[in-house]
Amino acid sequence: MNKMKTEFLSKSENESFARVCVASFVTQLEPTMEDIDDIKTAVSEAVTNCIVHGYGSDEKGKIVIECTLKENKAVISVEDFGRGIEDIQQAMEPLFTTQPEEERSGMGFTVMETFMDGIKVTSQVGKGTKVVMTKEIV
Ligand code: ATP
Ligand code: MG
Repeated sequence: MNKMKTEFLSKSENESFARVCVASFVTQLEPTMEDIDDIKTAVSEAVTNCIVHGYGSDEKGKIVIECTLKENKAVISVEDFGRGIEDIQQAMEPLFTTQPEEERSGMGFTVMETFMDGIKVTSQVGKGTKVVMTKEIV
């Protein structure tokens, strides 16, 4: 078992930091390049959501990422303390977005679901949102 935790501000510059950080930690499980690309893509989507939706592009928000490695499984959580999601089931539907005017496609959660082996979203309006994703490295 191994675990890391990192915290950073909700600035778009930190998206690449977040995905590289998680990817390099998961390297211990000897993933394929494809696994690494999947994880980077999913982490990017989750962090972007924290920044644009959770904090509405306010750059002073806190984002916390935790990653736990256990046997051949990586569990990655991405958490913000922003607006929260009213209806999680609706938010996770493909093509659903609350920002169509910003040319968002509403595919972030669908991408996370497709590229990872599991995803669980918990959220409280006015408190924040936590996305927990798992990836098995075989
Ligand atoms: P895309 O990811 O394709 O650019 P999107 O971000 O709107 O578009 P999803 O990532 O699937 O699509 O998210 C769907 C919706 O869920 C968002 O439009 C937003 O309303 C809500 N949402 C997602 N993450 C958060 C979050 N961290 N805080 C608050 N609302 C969120
Ligand atoms: Mg998104």
